Amino acid sequence: MSDMQHRPLLEVRDLEKVYHLNSGLLQRIARQPALNLRAVNKVSFSIQPGETLGLIGESGCGKSTLARTVLRLHEPTSGSITFEGSDITKLPHREMTALRRSMQIIFQDPYASLNPRKSVEEIVGLPLSLHGIAKRGEIRDRVVAMLESVGLKSAHMGRFPHQFSGGQRQRIGIARALILNPSFVVCDEPVSALDVSIQAQIITLLESLKRELGLTYLFISHDIGVIGHVSDRIAVMYLGDIVEMGPSREVLKAPKHPYTKALLSAVPQIDAGARRERVKLTGDLPSPIAPPPGCKFHTRCPFAIERCRHEVPALRDLGGDMKAACHLVSAS
Ligand code: ADP
Ligand code: MG
Repeated sequence: MSDMQHRPLLEVRDLEKVYHLNSGLLQRIARQPALNLRAVNKVSFSIQPGETLGLIGESGCGKSTLARTVLRLHEPTSGSITFEGSDITKLPHREMTALRRSMQIIFQDPYASLNPRKSVEEIVGLPLSLHGIAKRGEIRDRVVAMLESVGLKSAHMGRFPHQFSGGQRQRIGIARALILNPSFVVCDEPVSALDVSIQAQIITLLESLKRELGLTYLFISHDIGVIGHVSDRIAVMYLGDIVEMGPSREVLKAPKHPYTKALLSAVPQIDAGARRERVKLTGDLPSPIAPPPGCKFHTRCPFAIERCRHEVPALRDLGGDMKAACHLVSAS
């Protein structure tokens, strides 16, 4: 039977995150105008247990904000987040802390996110002692086992982050995220800071850990090659909106939204042989403080018509589990 009949592990409804800039005391004294930056704009999606949802979009389009708001590392402005069947949107701080064991994040820059003064044993063991779920001797055993499962030698436990290569540091970041046995892991550009030769090793590791541990991923990258490789479904984000979402194979083979087409056209390996129209992405991402009216993509879209300049396109069902927010796309 179809996956749609299972309860999603994570369900996000109309999630919104607005940053209020110029809201500090000094800015108010200087009478600077209040600015609202809508980084995530009423986004809805769900993730089934065991699935990898890939999230793609240019830098600055709101991917990290979406991920952090889902984990409530940032407080949502509005909308709801349901995890394992319960609404966690307004869960009090203490309960949220307990729940965080199940929801973890792997960051882009393993060096910046690892305390340089702590040994690997301390870094990877810290979540266990913070959550008070293992005794001292037990912590060491679990750290040893975890390091081995991410391909690090337990003999190196006493070393510090700077004594490792970039790829090894990301393995430490992965070990720290997985030591609490989470069910849901956000991978926020986990290979973007690594050499291309190392990227494949880390992706392979994340995929095998997912299988072994039964994990569910929200996998973020600005690299459509990476996203295409790891994802079961793909969501495409532009200036705070999901503009296209669907099964990975469909999105790669027959993208509907001009923005997705542009992202794919930029990658020759993916584009090769596909009989898709090529779309060249011109200009920069507009400021999210003053996004273009109508379809936010119209300023860069080669197909834009008058309607696109003033009417916001809804994310519409196109059949076959595909959705796109474009006036020019019709259901198949
Ligand atoms: P991405 O991860 O896709 O590169 P981000 O979520 O980091 O995008 O950023 C989306 C937008 O939100 C950007 O314009 C960024 O400058 C802004 N932003 C991110 N974090 C904050 C913050 N803490 N305060 C104010 N603006 C922020
Ligand atoms: Mg980011």
